[in-house]
Amino acid sequence: MFDSHFHVTDPRLITHKDVIDSQLTGVEIGADFESLPAIFEFSATHEHVYCTAGVHPAYADMYSANDMENFVAEHLNFKKFVAIGECGLDYHRPDLPARERQVEVFVHQIHLADRYKKPLVVHSRDSWEDTAEVLFAHKSKLKNGVLIHCMSYTAEQAEYLLNHLNGIDVYFAFGGHITYKQKAFLHDTLRTIPLNRILIETDAPYLAPTPKRSEVNLPQYIRYTAEVMAKILNKTVAEIETLTANNAYRFFKIKAAQ
Ligand SMILES: [Zn+2]
Repeated sequence: MFDSHFHVTDPRLITHKDVIDSQLTGVEIGADFESLPAIFEFSATHEHVYCTAGVHPAYADMYSANDMENFVAEHLNFKKFVAIGECGLDYHRPDLPARERQVEVFVHQIHLADRYKKPLVVHSRDSWEDTAEVLFAHKSKLKNGVLIHCMSYTAEQAEYLLNHLNGIDVYFAFGGHITYKQKAFLHDTLRTIPLNRILIETDAPYLAPTPKRSEVNLPQYIRYTAEVMAKILNKTVAEIETLTANNAYRFFKIKAAQ
């Protein structure tokens, strides 16, 4: 299974002896600037792990446009550096950075993705309208592709995004959310999205799928999410595995292993 989004260098996981085996396959996602060197190092030393450079909106107050651009420019030749992000907007809690600041940091990373020709990994939580507005306003800078990670919006919203970003390769990654009863509306969202635009992720150590919910999420729990996605799409787990891996290879521009 190609896990398009995890944070296994997180202290909760890196010390967890069952997590890191030689089969771990996917993308270690950058979320705060300080951790980027460790993330790139982890990717360099794990055969099937790729990496991204990004700053999550929760860390927007610490963002330095110069430092970030220098880091990206300095690592451009590293073959496993596949995307900019995660970046975006998170209005879930009142103690998160000011919305104006989040937008500024998000927009800067959109510019970096365009300038350095990388696809963009977007985090958007409880911020649908502003996320859509920022993406539409910067449509010309999204030519390398956009991935909405941990898709948590409705089928109508997904369609709206696909229509307004026509001509742009927009992908959506589904995680543990889709296994939650309260998020059953995501079944429709999944069915609405073209099959060649669907990815799977764990977001480990966050968002563990049912029946592991509320535990620390491990990469191997991706199977529970794949089972639910298979049922919704009337496919086998093996088909979901192949489909999402091929989509991930295309989005991240990774040469397929098979
Ligand atoms: Zn994440």
